[in-house]
Amino acid sequence: MTVFLDEIQENIPKPAQVEKVQLEGSKIVIYAKKPEHFSTHPEIIKGIVDKYKKRVDIRADTSVLTDPEKAKKSITDIVPKEAEITEIVFMSEVSRVIIEAKKPGLVIGKAGATLREIKKAIKWSPRVERTPVIPSKIIKTVRHVLYTNGEDRSKFLATLGRKVRPKSISPEENGHDKWVRITSLGGFREVGRSAVFVQTSESKILMDCGVNVAAHGSNAFPYLNAPEFDLKTLDAIVVTHAHLDHSGFIPYLFKYGYDGPVYCTPATRDLMTLLQLDYVDIAQREGKKIPFSKKEIQEVIKHTITLDYEEVTDITQDCRLTLYPAGHILGSSMAHVHIGDGLHNIIYTGDIKFENTNLLEGASTKFPRLETLIVESTYGGKNDNQPPRQDGENTLIKVVEDTMARGGKVLIPVLAVGRAQEVMIVLERYARESKKDFKIYLDGMIWDATAIHTAYPEYLSRRLRQQIFHEDKNPFMSGVFNRVGGKKEREELIVRDEPCVILATSGMLAGGPSVEYLRRLAESKKNSIVFVSYQAEGSLGKRIQKGFKQVTLENAKGQNEIVNIKMPVNTIDGFSGHSDRRSLMNFVGRLNPKPDRVLVDHGDNMKCLDLASSLHKAYSIDTYAPKNLETVRLR
Ligand SMILES: [Zn+2]
Ligand SMILES: [Zn+2]
Repeated sequence: MTVFLDEIQENIPKPAQVEKVQLEGSKIVIYAKKPEHFSTHPEIIKGIVDKYKKRVDIRADTSVLTDPEKAKKSITDIVPKEAEITEIVFMSEVSRVIIEAKKPGLVIGKAGATLREIKKAIKWSPRVERTPVIPSKIIKTVRHVLYTNGEDRSKFLATLGRKVRPKSISPEENGHDKWVRITSLGGFREVGRSAVFVQTSESKILMDCGVNVAAHGSNAFPYLNAPEFDLKTLDAIVVTHAHLDHSGFIPYLFKYGYDGPVYCTPATRDLMTLLQLDYVDIAQREGKKIPFSKKEIQEVIKHTITLDYEEVTDITQDCRLTLYPAGHILGSSMAHVHIGDGLHNIIYTGDIKFENTNLLEGASTKFPRLETLIVESTYGGKNDNQPPRQDGENTLIKVVEDTMARGGKVLIPVLAVGRAQEVMIVLERYARESKKDFKIYLDGMIWDATAIHTAYPEYLSRRLRQQIFHEDKNPFMSGVFNRVGGKKEREELIVRDEPCVILATSGMLAGGPSVEYLRRLAESKKNSIVFVSYQAEGSLGKRIQKGFKQVTLENAKGQNEIVNIKMPVNTIDGFSGHSDRRSLMNFVGRLNPKPDRVLVDHGDNMKCLDLASSLHKAYSIDTYAPKNLETVRLR
């Protein structure tokens, strides 16, 4: 190992004064006393990249870095004021300076010119992070964990770098039997606790590791006790998106000894931290035992390696990962795993939305290569077709207009991440275009989740980006939105005689402020409730949606109370973050290249079977809907 790094160090010409060569994940980092030597001799880096097939980063040796106080001053002198720098953090272990700013583009400059100027002046390698325009406690926490654990993190990245170095295959090994198999550890023929275990002759990867928040006991968690699975030999975790049914059980892996990497997009890292922390809080409040704590959530942050869409990275000796947009929620991705030298290629969709929405562009369909597709089927049943989104938007606006005209309040129970922001954009546009003066209240985690959306505008739909970057009209910053900060404000809002819209978690009325609003608003015909997302069988939301006129709810004193549902109940389809049946079929039909085999997951039993058989009939490809705990050999 060291031989390889020593070799690089020895071959670099003396004038560069190289002090050390290190691995940082899949990257080679060269620390030199004269880093500028590399800019005048670009052939040195090119030679290393060609030989070792890795990205190379040049940094200044600690001994030549400008004193942080002086460096800070240089940065603020070089960067235009309009960039609105909010924080400058020096990480001497890696010779880096992090510059947080509200307008990162102005810190970067034209084609990186300002960054280069900074580096030349102070020798520190600058990295820019966007300061969200709505302050986010979670992003602060995540960044703080990363900044204050610089040394641990660089050790972790160096160890990882040694493991992911592609193995050179000796002639004897060439004829060796190479294979690929996947084992379904959770989320097959069901929704919840998604976990797909990929094994090759060289490595073991876990894609997603979720919990089923609606299930009890061990049914809530993936089958990590499967004989196939051993935490000690797991090489990497990939997270498609932040929802708990995909990310909720990752902290558990760290509690029981996993200390490897977690790959996901930056937005997924922050949103999953938000949801995992909330999961622990709710469990504590409800006296439910879950097998990990906030300490392990911090470990997840420390071990997360973020990738942007279409950034190709070696994650094990024989696997290369690329994330593609999935169109489902902010930062959601499909995982493309390229195994061996063209041995096999897998796409695991996680949750997808094929069409564009107000919030996001739809899922990608073009990949370099593809043999096996693992596709979700939440709405994969024959009759699971949703009306066009425009119809849904029109109905929503009609309900809002009618309810407010009679002086009532509209309650919309939503998931904090995804549906909430989709509905917010529709309502904000309506408020702006109709010039109607009304208020939208956000209760529960929606505000925090929205704040994270403002840190990653580049992940939003083309239309939103246009609005945010070129028209300077960030819809999330609109004055129409108001935060409900706690119990007292909630109480005031409920009793105040003010027509308005209330978005509150949880989406299925399974706990959270939406239940309190329901209890207090349901008995007046003036108000309305609108369901915009999936209601699971057995949930309170589903019962009300089905037309139950009476429900029993716990009041503030902890006593059971019968509540009569007198307010009109509306269900609006078309806001879903999932593809419906028609669009799942289109998605597979549109894939380029076509897969040889499709495995169906993430749907109720019948939906998985139905989609698998319809895909087979329509496209004459091999399809299969495995049960949990099945292993399929792909190659
Ligand atoms: Zn999801
Ligand atoms: Zn899901």
